Amino acid sequence: MKIPGALVSIVRTPRRPDQESIAAAVRRAVALAGGLPEEVRPGATVLLKPNLVEVPYTKESGAVTHPGVCRAVAELVLERGAAPIIADGAGMGSDTEAVIAFMGYDLLRCDGFTVLDLKKEQAVGVMNPGAAVLPRMKVYQPAVDADVLINLPVMKTHDQTEITLSLKNLKGLLADSSKRAVHRRALFRGIVEVAAYFRPSFTVLDGIFTQEGVGPVYGDPVEMDLVMAGRDMVALDTVAGLIMGYSPAEVPTTVLAAEAGLGIAEPEKIEIAGLPWESVQRRFKRCSESEILREAPPGSLQIGADTCSGCRNTVISVLVELQARGALAALEGRTIVTGASSAKEPLPARPIFVGNCARQRGRDRENVPGCPPENSWIIDLILGGRS
Ligand code: SF4
Repeated sequence: MKIPGALVSIVRTPRRPDQESIAAAVRRAVALAGGLPEEVRPGATVLLKPNLVEVPYTKESGAVTHPGVCRAVAELVLERGAAPIIADGAGMGSDTEAVIAFMGYDLLRCDGFTVLDLKKEQAVGVMNPGAAVLPRMKVYQPAVDADVLINLPVMKTHDQTEITLSLKNLKGLLADSSKRAVHRRALFRGIVEVAAYFRPSFTVLDGIFTQEGVGPVYGDPVEMDLVMAGRDMVALDTVAGLIMGYSPAEVPTTVLAAEAGLGIAEPEKIEIAGLPWESVQRRFKRCSESEILREAPPGSLQIGADTCSGCRNTVISVLVELQARGALAALEGRTIVTGASSAKEPLPARPIFVGNCARQRGRDRENVPGCPPENSWIIDLILGGRS
């Protein structure tokens, strides 16, 4: 039996769509998903949250939400007499304005749309009742002030959470100090707590240029030409995950969000409007299938059998970045150790303990705590500095 409200629309654009085609697809996807919610009414401030994580290597890499999708949703908001504000902060240590300029979001500014770099906005402390990981967190003021939140993620794989869709995208509303805290404590559950706090009214998923492999920035581009929409973010992540070849049980954030009552993760209970998901399915290459593991210097990895995908994929992503910087050799003579079960194995000569599960074996300098830690913290340690 279908659950009322668990409705996800799937619409296809032409290949390499122009703005007119994108706008038409967004309009249709939104309409099929029941239309924008009533709260998008005259005078309301509507925060549109794209994914502006990092300057990608090409505009079509699938790392960043297509500005055309943002423009199309902003126009729908304007038609309702509401005021759209496009806002995001790039990942830790990254420059949002550089992403805005590279991706063409500055053209939206030229056309009169408000595009905010959240990192320049005030961060305020808020309480998140019932949260265990982040009961107090710092979030950006515009996200607190907005009357309505519409989430605009992009479809891609992720080196720590398997895939990043609606739920994961909301972490961008946290100030950097809280982003660090959620990595140190428990990323998956923390993401779900942040999603529970913000509870966007509607989501439009950019599935035009997407990314597989070692996402969310340096993966391989895949043109899917899809736009999806819905009010139930868990249902949307479930269906988008199925399209990418992931069962809901393989995605920790989807599982935890459904357990927390944020939405429906049982495919048979989700109504699909538009194209059947099976008709557009394409298995995405997983982060864990990266060939980079074969390139690591001999003896440089001691991945304990109980290491979960969080630390496992983080290590893969670190290897990819080291290789991209021509610095894989910095790992020679060192060993990255993950997972609690590594305690049963002989201690390597120069270990780097990665993740809370392994850290009980580490001394301070060799220890990168987190669950999982940020990739950049591990890279800084390997290359000689600490963040
Ligand atoms: S610290 Fe442990 S539980 Fe956390 S991501 Fe790493 S292996 Fe998984």
